Amino acid sequence: MTQVSQPRSVNCPTCGKPVPWIPESVFRPFCSERCRNIDLGAWAAEEYRVPENEKPLPDDQ
Ligand SMILES: [Zn+2]
Repeated sequence: MTQVSQPRSVNCPTCGKPVPWIPESVFRPFCSERCRNIDLGAWAAEEYRVPENEKPLPDDQ
């Protein structure tokens, strides 16, 4: 039986880089804060899409 001492790793969902699944990888499954923010930004863009039924502000003359 072989004891695997290497940590498990996952691929960053944003850029695909392998990320070691260890407590030190604070942004896992992302490789970095940047990649995490990119992913969160994509979600936010979906979530907070500008509602189409929002009426334009009336001209205040
Ligand atoms: Zn990444």
